[in-house]
Amino acid sequence: MSSLRGRNESAWLLPKGPGSNLGLRENMRRYRDDDELDIVIVGCGAGGATLLQRLARAGWRAVGLDAGPFWEPEQDWVSDEAGSHHLYWTEPRVIGGSDPVPLGSNNSGRGVGGSMVHFAGYTPRFHPSDFHTLSADGVGADWPLEYGELRPYYEDIEAELPVSGEHWPWGDPHTYPHRPHPVSGNGELFLRGANACGVTAKVGPVAIANGRFGNRPHCIYRGFCLQGCKVNAKASPLITHVPDALAHGAEIRPDSMATRICLDERTGLATGVEYVQGGIQRFQRARLVAVAGYSIETPRLLLNSTSPRFPDGMCNDFDQVGRYLMVQGAPQTAGRFQAEVRMWKAPPPEVSTEDFYETDPAKPYKRGFSIQCVSPLPITWAEHVAAQGHWGAALRRYMSDYPHWACLGALCEFLPLEGNRVTLADETDRNGIPVARFSYSQCDNDRQLMSAAQQVMEQILNAAGAEEVITINRYAHLVGGARMAATEDAGVVDRNLRSFAVPNLLVTDGSVLPTQGSANPALTIMALAARAAGVLVQGARRGVTMSTKED
Ligand SMILES: Cc1cc2nc3c(=O)[nH]c(=O)nc-3n(C[C@H](O)[C@H](O)[C@H](O)COP(=O)(O)OP(=O)(O)OC[C@H]3O[C@@H](n4cnc5c(N)ncnc54)[C@H](O)[C@@H]3O)c2cc1C
Ligand code: SF4
Repeated sequence: MSSLRGRNESAWLLPKGPGSNLGLRENMRRYRDDDELDIVIVGCGAGGATLLQRLARAGWRAVGLDAGPFWEPEQDWVSDEAGSHHLYWTEPRVIGGSDPVPLGSNNSGRGVGGSMVHFAGYTPRFHPSDFHTLSADGVGADWPLEYGELRPYYEDIEAELPVSGEHWPWGDPHTYPHRPHPVSGNGELFLRGANACGVTAKVGPVAIANGRFGNRPHCIYRGFCLQGCKVNAKASPLITHVPDALAHGAEIRPDSMATRICLDERTGLATGVEYVQGGIQRFQRARLVAVAGYSIETPRLLLNSTSPRFPDGMCNDFDQVGRYLMVQGAPQTAGRFQAEVRMWKAPPPEVSTEDFYETDPAKPYKRGFSIQCVSPLPITWAEHVAAQGHWGAALRRYMSDYPHWACLGALCEFLPLEGNRVTLADETDRNGIPVARFSYSQCDNDRQLMSAAQQVMEQILNAAGAEEVITINRYAHLVGGARMAATEDAGVVDRNLRSFAVPNLLVTDGSVLPTQGSANPALTIMALAARAAGVLVQGARRGVTMSTKED
């Protein structure tokens, strides 16, 4: 692999200190809609921006469309919970199923950088076992890809974000490019309680620069990672991959909502993307199209892209689009301590354990969960307390007591179920396009994992000396909906993220995950997109066209 700076210079292209390199944006290359691009990418988040940067570096004529703005952290973001609501995707969606998942602030972002702009910052790898849960455990699905094939891309992305953490003993044991951060009261209590319970817990892995990185300054430990880090210490594609993409000739069109992928009925190939910008309908031609709009919007766009060839939605010959969408069960348990903890005075991501990640034959359930520090700010803390039924004077008492609380969160590996899916609702959005309906129901295994994770979190906090513990049940991290598979009747894309049905169409976001492990997904999404870009670039060098089937 080439040296870090030779591969991705984003950190050196930023201004010294906070803010953005506005010159790069003003001077970026601009294409016309009727220019035939090498690729148009829908969505500039984890998967889309990584693909854009890799292909721009390889000299491809590439444009990224994003429905949201081109954020300028200095102007647009505030270190304030309520003031950060505009970072979320809050367009209408319909939810259903026996366990409906609330959509809004806790799932996807909008704007260049995508959801990582407001992600917490945890960047663990998936375990090798995640790639074959069906063969090994009889649940979930086998990926058409092995862990070892993704390892070099994990290493590359970890260096580019960069990731800080202790030596990681779980899964495929590995080290991180940057040393672990110091921990706060919340992290210390987690380490103390875990140690007392015989649970191994480690500091990291977080995509937060420990010390200066290129022109990016170090973290100032003020804890607003979920509000968009104004300082540029926390990674998101906006600062880790977009500057390099622009410097290498990519164009990004913000405020450009893709509404349809167009198809040439004669060749069966995608011809480009229709999108709305400033109320005007436009069409961008391209030789290749990639969709990376997050697990809800990606299946929605495919389903809305109907044609005589695809009357039920693009790539939906086998009724796979939108299916097997997953969320992680993410209960959070808080503990009250005699001394002040002040959990807000640090990045929310600090310490994790993956001791419970793998299937334990002694347990009645399959697969597992991880546990991490989370540090809810006051509004989220109020939601946590109110969910226990505390209201009025009791709620006020809990809020005044906020400095004494520590909080842990679990990520439980909910299984991919065929019926958990996105379809189109009757309701339409402001562009007249049907919105996504997301139906979700848990299975018994999911519920057992939630309850097991809660018990372990309570044990850890009690062992650390908590006087009272309270738990809120919630979800995190939507993935799946256009999954990777070995055969076209079992998924939407192949191991190189190319759709089975339309040879020049790719999906390069979290939608492609067949299972989700109990790791946070962003690093894996970026690694998969980097791998897919590598396959495209290698193929182009060998003269392979997208209509040629090859691996
Ligand atoms: C509060 C919170 C905390 C999180 N914390 C973590 C964490 O600690 N670690 C972790 O790994 N993950 C975390 N995540 C999840 C992680 O951020 C996402 O899984 C990941 O960013 C998804 O990547 P993606 O490429 O699938 O989509 P995104 O990064 O969301 O990118 C999708 C982009 O597509 C754009 N878009 C959508 N539809 C269209 C359209 N029709 N036309 C044009 N543009 C469109 C959107 O504006 C968006 O910019 C967190 C998420 C949330 C909400
Ligand atoms: S705690 Fe660090 S990474 Fe998080 S928002 Fe503040 S400076 Fe950024």
